[in-house]
Amino acid sequence: MKENQNHENASFKDYENPKDKNIYQKAELFGQYIANWQSRGHWNYRQVCLSGSTAEVILEGEPDKIYVATVYNDYLGLSQHPAVKAAAIAGIEKYGVGVTASPAIGGQMDFHVEIEQKIAGFFKREAAMLFTTGYTANTATMQALFKKEDLAIADAGVHASMIEGVKYTTNVKTFLHNNMEHLERILKGNQGKYRSMVVVIDGVYSQPADLAPLADIVYLCKKYGAFLAMDDAHGVGVIGETGRGVIELHDAYQDVDIITGTFSKTFGHLGGYVVADPELIEYLKYQAAQHIFSVAPTPASRCVLKSIDLIDEEPWRKVKLWENINYLKKGLHDLRLNTEHSASAIVPVIIGRPGLNAEVCKLLLEAGVYANQIGYPAVNLKSARIRMSITAAHTIDHMDRILEAWEWVKVKMNIKNFE
Ligand code: PMP
Repeated sequence: MKENQNHENASFKDYENPKDKNIYQKAELFGQYIANWQSRGHWNYRQVCLSGSTAEVILEGEPDKIYVATVYNDYLGLSQHPAVKAAAIAGIEKYGVGVTASPAIGGQMDFHVEIEQKIAGFFKREAAMLFTTGYTANTATMQALFKKEDLAIADAGVHASMIEGVKYTTNVKTFLHNNMEHLERILKGNQGKYRSMVVVIDGVYSQPADLAPLADIVYLCKKYGAFLAMDDAHGVGVIGETGRGVIELHDAYQDVDIITGTFSKTFGHLGGYVVADPELIEYLKYQAAQHIFSVAPTPASRCVLKSIDLIDEEPWRKVKLWENINYLKKGLHDLRLNTEHSASAIVPVIIGRPGLNAEVCKLLLEAGVYANQIGYPAVNLKSARIRMSITAAHTIDHMDRILEAWEWVKVKMNIKNFE
């Protein structure tokens, strides 16, 4: 960031490594940026929630106001399910609150093995392993498997954790989001140049909220001899007849070498998983640094055994989720708002200009809707957006309240179309 640059036109990225600033100086500079946003009432990050990740929440500072929350990825509402809560409590009662050792040296409990087997079976595969977060599942797996002799070819929209994971290859190429011609050009141009090539994709992309064309990608990977890694953090529970995610749409269970995901969204808890062939999983159990040198998930994570079952046992949750999504999207389109190519439980509204985005977010909050503003570098500057996650715990009344809030914001700002 240049000295005296206006903080209003800056983004988080400008403060990552400002020239000639030591750690305190760069923190001070970033502090000025935050203060500038706060002075306009536009800093809505890290709000303190007093009520849990529910459809209606209470936020610190407004104890008498109830907001409709669209910030939680609790797609099936399982974080609040009585049976899931009971399973977490039973896990703590039996094993204590923590296991205090990494899996290789004492931390592996029987319930960890049970979760691994269950999540592998969920994807019709034989083996899986756990991490404490989805983020580490991605970084650890990619770092352990792919090195500087290898080439990673990532969709431009993949999650930050996948990009972090493939940096070790030092050969990372990105293809335009969901652009199969571009992917093929890169695969073709690099065939035989590296020890191996891995194509890295998400199932559902967290910002555009659209789906990977998995069948086409599998075809290209086979054609050019590339491995395939897919993180479907936002697809599981939401996409596919039985909620197995994007993999189910294409019956591609056996075609993805590395399936990763998280228990922090649909499953309502936290923790990451990797599903792959048994020999890869065995290798990763002793070679993935973040697994060997880090504690195993807590006994509360025993609750995901119940969450996994509930996807099959209570299919009405996915039906309710889609009823909400479809109702909301239709209402937003009637208001002439652009939800881009959203085909998942993430519903963005494209605003376009960063300053405007923050003001919209602030006004939505005023109108009782708690949503997130997403700007650069998570999306490009012109794609600044408000992002809403819809869940089965929402009701049609909640969707109406969200739509009324949007209508009010448009009138208040005297704007016909945001872009
Ligand atoms: N992958 C994707 C696509 C995500 O959106 C996220 C969370 N935002 C993660 C991985 C990380 O998951 P976790 O929260 O379990 O670390």
